[in-house]
Formats: sequence, C-alpha cells, structure tokens
Amino acid sequence: MELLQNYIDGEWRASNEWQAVDVVNPATQQCMARVPYGGATARDVDEAVAAASKVSAAWAEVPVMQRVQPLYRLKALLEEHLEELAETITNECGKTRAESIGELQRAIENVETACATPVLMQSEFSENITRGIDEFVIRQPVGICACIAPFNFPGMIPFWFLPYAIACGNTFLIKPSEKVPLTMQKVMGLIDRIGLPAGVVNLVHGGKETVDALLEHPQIKAISFVGSTRVARYIYAKAAQHGKRVQAQGGAKNPVVVLPDADLETTSRIVVDSVYGCAGQRCLAASNILLVGDRQGQVKDALYEAAKSRKTGYGWADGVEMGPVISPGSKARIEQLIEQGTHEGAKVLLDGRGAAIEGFETGNFIKPTVLTDVPLDGELIRTEIFGPVMSLINLSTIEDAVTFINRNAYGNMACLFTSSGASARKFRSEANAGNIGINIGVAAPMAQFPFSGWNDSFFGDLHGQGRHAIEFFTQTKVVVERWPKEWSRKF
Ligand code: NAD
Repeated sequence: MELLQNYIDGEWRASNEWQAVDVVNPATQQCMARVPYGGATARDVDEAVAAASKVSAAWAEVPVMQRVQPLYRLKALLEEHLEELAETITNECGKTRAESIGELQRAIENVETACATPVLMQSEFSENITRGIDEFVIRQPVGICACIAPFNFPGMIPFWFLPYAIACGNTFLIKPSEKVPLTMQKVMGLIDRIGLPAGVVNLVHGGKETVDALLEHPQIKAISFVGSTRVARYIYAKAAQHGKRVQAQGGAKNPVVVLPDADLETTSRIVVDSVYGCAGQRCLAASNILLVGDRQGQVKDALYEAAKSRKTGYGWADGVEMGPVISPGSKARIEQLIEQGTHEGAKVLLDGRGAAIEGFETGNFIKPTVLTDVPLDGELIRTEIFGPVMSLINLSTIEDAVTFINRNAYGNMACLFTSSGASARKFRSEANAGNIGINIGVAAPMAQFPFSGWNDSFFGDLHGQGRHAIEFFTQTKVVVERWPKEWSRKF
C-alpha cells in the first residue's frame, strides 16, 4: 500500500515518521493509501520550514504581477484535471460527483480572486498630512504561513488561504486532514508544474503531532485553521501563545427559520438540500429547522416528502444525491445522537439508521433522518451532529426564532425563508451569525467575500477568502516622509 510522501522544497520526500494510518474509502472501507502519523512528523515540519525559509526573502521581492502568474497556470490545470480530482474527493470523502465538482469550482474561484492581488494589495496614501509631509501604508508579506485543514472539503478549504498567501509574497505549508490527504496530494502534483520556486508551497502530512510542530515553530508567523470548535480553540490559544497571527474556523449548529409566508416548494427543496447535502457534513449544513406560525404541519409534510425521496448511495454513481459519512466512528456517533434525542423526547418521523446500500453494504451510510418534537433544552438542539439529521422545532413568532438562534453557542450561519422584505430585514440585522441566508439554504460566501463566522464558530479577526485573506497575509507598515522643497536641488 502506497505510503504518502511529503512535498518539500519542490520535490517528493519520504516522511521521517514510519508509523502511518489508513486512508479509507467511506463507501467501501477499502484502504487507498497510508499517511504518516506520529511524533517524527515534527522533523518533516522542520524540513518544510527550512525550505520555505530559504526562498522567503527572494519570493517576497518578486513583483506581485509576476507572483500571480503561476496562479493563472494553476487555474488552467485545476480545470483540466477537474474530473480526476473530483473522483478522488468522492473516493476519500464520500461526496457525490456534483458535490465534489462544486467544491473544486469554489477552489478555482479563490485562485481567480487571488489573481486580483496586484490591486487588492494596494493601500492608502495621504499627501501633505502637514506641509511637506506625506504618509502611506505599505503591505508586506508576513513570512512563512501554514494551513491546517479538516476532512469535509479536501479540495476547497486550503484554497481559502493558499492562493492569497503566496500572491501576497508569503511561503506556505499545508497539512491536510489525515482522513482525506489524497486530494491535496494530487493538487500538489499540479502545483509542482506551475513554475513556483522550490519551497514556496510545501505539503506535510500527519495529525496532532504535526499540528503541534507547526504551532510551536518559531519561524512560522501565521496559522489558518478550519475544523471542529474543540480543536479551533486549542489552535487559537496555542498559536497565540507562540506569537502567531491566527484565524481558526470552528464547528457549527445552523438554524433555518421558515415563516408561514415562505414559498413551500422552493423552501422544502432548498432546506432539504442544505440539511442532507454532503451527508450533513458541511459547516453550513442546516440542522435545526424552526417552523414559525400557522403552516407548521404543511411545511413539515413537504420537508418529509423531500427528505424521503433523496437517493443515498456511492457518490460517483449516477443519480445519487447523498453519500456516506466519513467513518464508522462518525456513523456510530450520529446514530447514538439520534438515539439520545429520542430518549429526550424527540420523535423519529423518518429514520435513516441501519441503512443498507446494495453493493456497498460495509459503507458508512445513514439515510435522511427527520426528527420532530425535539425538546428545546436537549442535547440534539445544541450539539453539532455533522450527519444527515433534520430537527424540526415549532415556534410561534419570528422573535422567538431570533431568541432561539441567539442563545446558540455557535454562529456560523442562520437562514430565513419568507416572502416578506420587512421580516428578512429584521432577521439579517438581529440574528447572531456570520453568514446569513435569505431564501438561501447554504449561505456560502463566494471567493470575493470573507467566509464569516461568529462566536464558537470562529476564533480570530480576519477570515479566509477575498480581502480578509489579503489583510491576514500581509502586515502593514506605515511610512511618514518629510521632503521639504528647500532640501532638494532645483533643476
Ligand atoms: P477536526 O477538528 O477533527 O480536524 C481538523 C484538523 O485538525 C485536521 O487536520 C486534524 O488533523 C487536526 N487535529 C485534530 N485533532 C487535533 C488535536 N487534538 N490537536 C491538533 N490538531 C488536531 O475537524 P474535522 O473532523 O476534520 O472537520 C469537521 C469539523 O470542521 C466540523 O466541526 C465542521 O463544522 C468544521 N468546519 C468548519 C468550517 C468553517 O468554516 N467554520 C468549515 C469546514 C469544517
């Protein structure tokens, strides 16, 4: 079985670590590769940082218009290899073909947006702040930056950071999730061909030990993390303790409010897509569905019908709308949470447990599940399930819904379905979440907007993507200059 190598200093290198874990296809349990995992990966991090350090100063001096040229080549290569990369995502992560292609398209959009760095990096200039004195800001790269990625978007999430970081003149290390390292392995094969100097982008594999080495390394200046809230808190605290700038995106528990004036057909279709897309393993997956007012029965029936008809199976097969969850452990955890919900008083309207998919009997499948009468003080309401489970909650007014939402510890996304502009306006102003959807089920920001997130869903100040990324990957230098006329020779 192939043991994955790191990509360091422009070449593939064996890890210093001999221990490894399996990379497993969640639909078949087939082991596809092994990934280095253990304490000696810290030495891999040292090697990658040494390579990045060697080229950092020279790369920072390359004019920004030239620094973005490799990104144009990367865009073309990603498009050329879209199908093959998408199949890798499906095989290691379980997504459907459409979902895998969709996440790669967002990755490409980020490359495109980062191509605007020559403009985005420009900054302010004030002439004559007082007579003969000018003041201006220079944006300079921060140095060596690292990204630690989660399992659920192996092809997209590193691109919230990587293209901006290098376009701004930084060098970069990526540590993919050990559960899904194959996509980035393939992407790195493409990055190898875009004409970047050796050491500008490096890939190191591993788990916690690798992460700790990144957090502790004195030469790494910035950490971009995406993953669970528990780990995000740890990353934020530890990276800050080591004097680094940090952006740490955490978990979520996303509410969707359906008002009685919402269009039933569109709403049920979109809400079901949001709950069950990527098998619910999306940080912007709808989870708590708040039915407000006098059409609760009708909305519930429409959601139930839409959920029931969703086809679950192997992600690359035609017509499949939902793949497996990532691991047997994850499947067991989700089924246990459903069980706990029923003990707390929830009723199972549609039960996706014990799903058997013909030809994929060992896969980690859970079919769409719908729970009703979910108690407001129960575990199910608070905990990120990260699986295909919809919890229906009846409330009387939009005010009740906003109160419910604002009690939640997370704040990644909140959505409203309505035909009332006034309700929409109130909601977008009062709901405490970083990404708001109005008649939208997955309010995922395009690449030119920050991937926002509040409360326990984000630790830091500047988010990934767009201008936020440019700010995160540059440090500002303010210059005040005095040039009195009388000091200069007249010609
Ligand atoms: P995770 O936190 O388990 O792992 C994320 C990364 O951290 C991996 O690379 C992993 O190797 C590393 N890691 C895991 N445990 C660690 C530890 N104890 N110390 C140091 N590093 C550690 O997350 P996951 O299960 O891969 O991803 C799912 C989570 O990510 C969900 O909670 C989801 O909501 C969240 N997520 C958030 C966003 C967002 O934008 N807010 C986007 C995608 C995913």
